[in-house]
Amino acid sequence: MKKLEEYIKANGQIISDDILKVDNFLNQLVDVNLLSEMAHTWYEEFKNQGVNKILTIEASGIAIATMVASVFKVPLLFAKKSKTTNMSNNLYQAKVFSFTHQKENVIAVDKSYLTKDDKVLIIDDFLANGQAVLGLMELARQAGANVIGVGIAIEKGFQKAGDMLRSKGFNIKSLAIIDKMDPSSKEIIFR
Ligand code: 5GP
Repeated sequence: MKKLEEYIKANGQIISDDILKVDNFLNQLVDVNLLSEMAHTWYEEFKNQGVNKILTIEASGIAIATMVASVFKVPLLFAKKSKTTNMSNNLYQAKVFSFTHQKENVIAVDKSYLTKDDKVLIIDDFLANGQAVLGLMELARQAGANVIGVGIAIEKGFQKAGDMLRSKGFNIKSLAIIDKMDPSSKEIIFR
């Protein structure tokens, strides 16, 4: 998606060889017009496949996935990263190693919110090593739900998870794929 690539070039900050900061339009301050265009792009890709639930992971996936759910007119379900006292014990759970926090989280959804009748579109902000997406797919597997596809805002193509998931037959629709980014020259090369 050309517009997202332009936003990344104009506003993204390359923190290191493999971390891009996009807090100023996607991860903290959120440009909702851009999100709306992103959501419509995924809608065009997945609209005829019976998607009835959008699945993401807290925290940064939620804003994006909310817009997507609104366009598809279906509910949004987000996996929680820590168990709170008001959560039931009736949970599907999966381990996810967080790329940005470098620690393992257990993600969970209430079993009553994800079922074998669901056709799920997974949405997240970044695809790096694929841990978050694999964790969400594991929750869907436990529920017997069908994963229709995965919508990613920014895939870091050099980290290979997208290629790995595509080679397994999953429909991964990334709106911008970065093949290279250089913190010293600030150059970003898109696929
Ligand atoms: P993965 O699970 O694919 O290794 O990493 C994806 C998750 O880590 C995303 O949910 C995202 O929040 C976070 N993440 C991975 N790489 C980046 C990055 O370069 N920048 C930011 N802001 N978040 C990232």
